Amino acid sequence: MSEVLEGGCLCGAVRFRARAPALRTLVCHCRFCQKMTGSTSYAESMFPMDSVELSGPLSVHEHVSQTSGKAVHVHFCPRCGTTVSLTFQRWPEYRAISRGTFDDPDRVCIGSHIWTESAQTGVILPADTDCFERARATLDGTPIEPTRYPAPVAARSAA
Ligand SMILES: [Zn+2]
Ligand SMILES: [Zn+2]
Repeated sequence: MSEVLEGGCLCGAVRFRARAPALRTLVCHCRFCQKMTGSTSYAESMFPMDSVELSGPLSVHEHVSQTSGKAVHVHFCPRCGTTVSLTFQRWPEYRAISRGTFDDPDRVCIGSHIWTESAQTGVILPADTDCFERARATLDGTPIEPTRYPAPVAARSAA
């Protein structure tokens, strides 16, 4: 089976091909991701920067993180507004692809939920999945121990 993952925006003007498997796929419940998507959270797959080819018009919005002081770049289709990808000043070697933009989103699998402390009411965290109240690591890169719940739990009562 081909490892190539393809996808694109809502209108089809932007397309991408990822030639390597996703390093990880996660759901972020931070307020930036809530605003960016206009929804409860953002599901993203991380890839090595040089393994993803993008084609078509892309506009960029720069957002400076209040937590790290580093910029996040939101790459979106100027025609239909779909957020296709994020890049990070803090992790220049990685590119995030929005899970919903894959032609087949089920070819990637969610491995963790992050920033659960700001999850909206009504959001349920799954059982046996790595959950982090904030990021997966401290600002100096030290990994943080995840919490795994034995049964699904409401995010706002999990802490
Ligand atoms: Zn589009
Ligand atoms: Zn986020």
